[in-house]
Amino acid sequence: MLLLALLLVLSASILGMWTQYSVKAKIAANQAIPNQAGLSGAEIAHMILRQAGLEEVEVARGESEGRDHYDPRSVRLELSPSVFDGRSVAALGIAAHEVGHALQHAEAYGGLTLRNLTVPGARLGNLLGMPLILLGLLFHNPIWAAVGLVFYLGVVVFQFITLPVEINASKRALVSLDNLNLLRTQEEADGATAVLNAAAMTYVAAALAGIATLIFYALSLFGGRRN
Ligand SMILES: [Zn+2]
Repeated sequence: MLLLALLLVLSASILGMWTQYSVKAKIAANQAIPNQAGLSGAEIAHMILRQAGLEEVEVARGESEGRDHYDPRSVRLELSPSVFDGRSVAALGIAAHEVGHALQHAEAYGGLTLRNLTVPGARLGNLLGMPLILLGLLFHNPIWAAVGLVFYLGVVVFQFITLPVEINASKRALVSLDNLNLLRTQEEADGATAVLNAAAMTYVAAALAGIATLIFYALSLFGGRRN
């Protein structure tokens, strides 16, 4: 049983690495393809926001790559330099996805509200879960380990809450791009979809790795007890 759980963890980690590689490759390939409208990610974000009546959302140029996100507290969208300035198919897809989160926020989409509520719990779980589990194992202290498992469970729950929110933001991205006639060729539509699907897969892989790790530690701590 424990061996099966270990295999599950290993498979989930391999899937995680593969999806990380795949999203990087998809982004790189579509960064090389200019979008037909010749618009930068920032311009596309502004267009979608204007159409939705959300001009108050700030679109900022981030410092580093791969940290694109929407911050609901400051109502601010931060795009990587390559997305903010880039006029590629990848920039188009990523910018529209991040605006998708701003749209979710504006209409108080339940999934996003729930996700934001669980962020502090997930942070705490990330900080304390694994150390408590490992200390519990090291010092044969089942209480610490059990508390650690509960914290880690919080992280896994958060990962599963995040999944539909991310998929929904990507769906909104494709609808917005289509409404603004920004997917003008099949190559463009396929490229944007490929980037968004690959990004979604990294969240699926993370959630699977989380649940596999949880099962593994739960079994190693409490599964094999006979007396
Ligand atoms: Zn997202």
